[in-house]
Amino acid sequence: MLIKGGFVFDPANARAGRLDVRVAEGKIVAVGPELGVEAGEEVLDAAGLIVAPGFVDIHVHLRDPGFTHKETLASGSRAAAAGGFTTVVAMANTKPVMDRPELVREFYRRAAREAVVNVYTVGAVTRGLAGEELSDFAALKEAGVVGFSDDGNPIPTAALMRQALKEAGRLGLPVIAHEGDPSLVADTIVNEGDAAARLGLGGMPGAAEDIQVARDVLLAELTGAHLHIQHVSSARSVAIIREAKARGVRVTAEATPHHFTLTDEALLKWGADAKMNPPLRSAQDVAAVRQGLADGTLDAIATDHAPHAPEEKAAGLVQAPCGIIGLETAFGLTWTELVLTGVLTPAQAIAKLTCLPARIVGLPKGTLSPGGDADITLFDPNATWEVDPAEFYSQSRNTPFAGRKLTGRIVYTIVGGRLVYAGGKILAEEATA
Ligand SMILES: [Zn+2]
Repeated sequence: MLIKGGFVFDPANARAGRLDVRVAEGKIVAVGPELGVEAGEEVLDAAGLIVAPGFVDIHVHLRDPGFTHKETLASGSRAAAAGGFTTVVAMANTKPVMDRPELVREFYRRAAREAVVNVYTVGAVTRGLAGEELSDFAALKEAGVVGFSDDGNPIPTAALMRQALKEAGRLGLPVIAHEGDPSLVADTIVNEGDAAARLGLGGMPGAAEDIQVARDVLLAELTGAHLHIQHVSSARSVAIIREAKARGVRVTAEATPHHFTLTDEALLKWGADAKMNPPLRSAQDVAAVRQGLADGTLDAIATDHAPHAPEEKAAGLVQAPCGIIGLETAFGLTWTELVLTGVLTPAQAIAKLTCLPARIVGLPKGTLSPGGDADITLFDPNATWEVDPAEFYSQSRNTPFAGRKLTGRIVYTIVGGRLVYAGGKILAEEATA
């Protein structure tokens, strides 16, 4: 296949320009100006489109196995493809929890059959996500996990986090941390602030997150291991990570589209569809997250795609589970909220969706380097659209972005050289992973 006439951004290779991309046998063969069409070659007209490496989301919940009324490998991977993501990393809070190598192997066997994008998983830091005893990291690595995370649950003690970092560091994999001291939560997981007060709730202060971020960067420094901090939501956490990076601590971090777009005011309009953990915070926190993305403190954009069934989200703000879906809105929000506003350049935004997250979990993805897998995303940077959850490939509908007008739309998603998504439709019905 020859992708012709597009504007290529390949931040990993510091390349940007009008270039063609040749793909053969699932690999990138060449990237260059005015490549001639070879005999029998299919041409994909990319005029007016931006050609980027396939997006990589290192934080998704596919809910499979165990919660397939929310999402499955099939539906979640189709949502990924529709959102321009060619590689996703699933979290371990499935049922059973991904804390044993045989479960990881079975997950990969199923993903190869059922998913239309590349799917990886982390292994649980602790057995059963119980926060007590480390799982067998070496055995999980052997089975193919790309990091360790108890996401959803913070690691309760410094001693356990130190042990996790030491063991993961020995194996060359990151500990991927959800930060938030649970002892500081009153009533439920919403930001402690004006919006919560108007709802008659106590909430959870940014300090709950900051305390654990501070603890864990100190432990990363102590152990020399790689700590990755998930979904940074508070201004102080951004500052702590910035300071740690300046000291040379091996810490990376991600931000979600909802944390760089919405404040806790969204709770008043969207109720439980704006409830997530960590919660939406103040305008000052949103500004700090944007600044952190702009100056490189926050390396990657990740969705924390967290599907829940409508009846679960209907349980009311206090009872409803945390999380929103994000795979199909992440790119439009990134382009609209960060690129068109001048917070990030196009190349910076694309790097935060491709090579930078791939590097965090050590995957050879997120580039258009010749010889690499032909995972490619093409988007129209000028197309405007309105978010309609009824059109989502995700099985769930829990989003506070319904009706939002966005600029920047995915047109083609190519996984391993195969066109998986085109013109609003999933094409592949067979696995590609
Ligand atoms: Zn989390």
